[in-house]
Amino acid sequence: MARVAFIGLGNMGGGMAANLAKAGHDVHAFDLSADALDAAKKAGCLPVASAAEAVKGAEAVITMLPAGKHVEAVYTDAVFDNADGGAILIDCSTIDVETARRINDAAAAKGLTAVDAPVSGGIAAANAGTLTFMVGGSKAGFERAEPFLSDMGKAVIHAGGAGAGQAAKACNNMLLGATMVATCEAFLLAQKLGLDPQKFYDIASVSSGQSWSMTSYCPVPGAGPESPADRDYAPGFATALMLKDLGLAMAAAQNVGADVPMGTRAQELYAQFAEAGNAGLDFSGIIRMLERGK
Ligand code: NAD
Repeated sequence: MARVAFIGLGNMGGGMAANLAKAGHDVHAFDLSADALDAAKKAGCLPVASAAEAVKGAEAVITMLPAGKHVEAVYTDAVFDNADGGAILIDCSTIDVETARRINDAAAAKGLTAVDAPVSGGIAAANAGTLTFMVGGSKAGFERAEPFLSDMGKAVIHAGGAGAGQAAKACNNMLLGATMVATCEAFLLAQKLGLDPQKFYDIASVSSGQSWSMTSYCPVPGAGPESPADRDYAPGFATALMLKDLGLAMAAAQNVGADVPMGTRAQELYAQFAEAGNAGLDFSGIIRMLERGK
């Protein structure tokens, strides 16, 4: 078992660090929040006083932070100057492709190996150790990161070179945003045409309109398996996070000149939904706004 530095013990990182400790690793954990440090201690991690202290002597350095600016600051202030030459640096946060590539390049310039490894799966998957990791970086970097990621997830996939994990995450979540909106409007139209929601679910879930948004996360209460719709749209995956991910996808599309009309429309609709005071609601709750027609 290895000594691991874990920085960022929030909703996602808390459960992930706990699973590494459960797997027998010696987890030196740091967060700016005292409450998060207390919870990590209870979960079997060793709380430390700074990111730099966590990083010293670690074989793997894992970050799970809100956005690119936090990740770049932690790498610049604490990781690059304190990491052992043999350490594998793994950022699991969802950040922009450009920042992920810049961090990878900066690590390489210092003789260090970094990978971007964002996750699919929410807080429940982080706690249960069933996340999917999409990894960007060299083959050697992937092979060194893989055993640690396997202790926190059910699938670990090498997406390609530096930034490819973030690229896969941005494309996946753009698809998710667009399919959720499309699923909501199909159910609303079906209802107006006199179809029972469960009956439409039974048909579309085994027909060509099927998607994860429908069969795993149906936005209509009472139809399909249990989902946030059955809990008055308590998240789940909050609208604010969907909006963040759509912003990253739109920025990535703009950088490479890709035309993404459905992603663009999904971003506009989610921005409108969030601005109306629903940022904390599950993203499938957008069906309520579409139902009202505004
Ligand atoms: P969170 O806000 O709950 O946790 C982030 C943690 O980072 C906080 O505890 C904060 O105190 C800490 N932090 C911030 N700056 C720090 C610093 N300089 N040093 C140490 N700690 C610092 O966020 P989260 O929900 O855990 O999400 C983390 C990342 O995972 C985000 O990039 C998010 O987009 C992504 N993600 C979240 C979900 C989800 O369902 N919550 C799902 C997939 C991916």
